[in-house]
Amino acid sequence: MRVYKARILSFEDPSSPKEYRYMAVDDDGRIAALSNERPPVGGELVDYSGHLILPGFIDTHIHLPQLHERAMISDSLLEWLEKYIFPAEEKFADPEFAREVSREFFSGLLRNGTTTAVVFSSSHREATEIAFEEAMKSGIRAVIGQVLMDMNGPEGLLTTPERAVEDIKAVALRWHGFDGRLFYAVTPRFAVSCTMELMRAAAEVAKEMGLYIQTHLSEQIGEIEEVMRLFPEAESYTNVYLKAGLLGESTIVAHAIHLSDRERKILAETGTRVAHCPSSNFFLHSGVMDLKAQESAGLTVSLGSDVGAGPFLSMLEVLRDAYYANVMNPFKAFHLLTMGGARALGMEDWIGSLEVGKEADFVVIDPEPLAGPEDELEVLLSRLMILGDERNVSATYVRGRKLCEG
Ligand SMILES: [Zn+2]
Repeated sequence: MRVYKARILSFEDPSSPKEYRYMAVDDDGRIAALSNERPPVGGELVDYSGHLILPGFIDTHIHLPQLHERAMISDSLLEWLEKYIFPAEEKFADPEFAREVSREFFSGLLRNGTTTAVVFSSSHREATEIAFEEAMKSGIRAVIGQVLMDMNGPEGLLTTPERAVEDIKAVALRWHGFDGRLFYAVTPRFAVSCTMELMRAAAEVAKEMGLYIQTHLSEQIGEIEEVMRLFPEAESYTNVYLKAGLLGESTIVAHAIHLSDRERKILAETGTRVAHCPSSNFFLHSGVMDLKAQESAGLTVSLGSDVGAGPFLSMLEVLRDAYYANVMNPFKAFHLLTMGGARALGMEDWIGSLEVGKEADFVVIDPEPLAGPEDELEVLLSRLMILGDERNVSATYVRGRKLCEG
């Protein structure tokens, strides 16, 4: 048992955070007690006075092979993909390179306070296995999938529906559910690079094996026009995925910016989750996702860095852009970052907040010099939301284990 002392905050309720002084974590990494007086349990005291403890950050959309492709400016998403991203992802055919970047990627996430990440790997089975191995070693929680494409890309990144299913089965059998910490996501890149046959095969194997699904939806107008040209019989972009069987409660679609009411209704009815990636949307000039419209349609919204279109690994920096995109108070922003992420993954019963019985995934934050640790809560969290970054992260814990120190 360990007892942590700090200003401990949890965001189950988007309008008023819960606050404690002590958190006891048992030897299995579960939260055993939260209180304002030292709980009557034995164990070592870990004194983080002057610091905050927040629930671990959850990044629900990020691309591992794009770590080194940040800040590559371009006129459009489709041009950016062809010019920078596809060539960068082709390099992941080299396992040594894949391992080196995977290591750097997961340690970078942990250094930034991200305890759970939902990750696009490259189009290579081996690089995806390496990503799982390095995620396992790092101690992070992750959902990872091999990117699937069978048209409109360079030869080295294309697969076939048969090969895709084979690859998914091989990797998911070994890793989906590993240590209750690693999971597999079937990952068709987006409708521009996938035939209906590939998307259907992907949806089927995901359903059969109980896997997550992740893809992109309605990021840019030019992309939507291309999808409508490729699938002329579909009434909308969202309808293409519906027809393929890709939508559902285990599916996360990134962006979902330019949606009609009818498309929002389809997403809500199928229980599909939306990963909002504001930093990426500003960087590529994709547009601004309307949070109110998504929430009033009943959609579950979480946050994603979308590195490399998003320039920041730090979810604190993504929070700033979320605020610029949609006015919100910091309680709501931290709620989206933590509980929103857990809900997107259906993991809200074991992560996403600091509550007794949940697994102890948390970030230790030094708020200085932006704010004093005892400042009024809304001011303190506003400063972190707008000005915070990697430098404010003092330590990151997953399941009660300290995985890095800032
Ligand atoms: Zn993306």
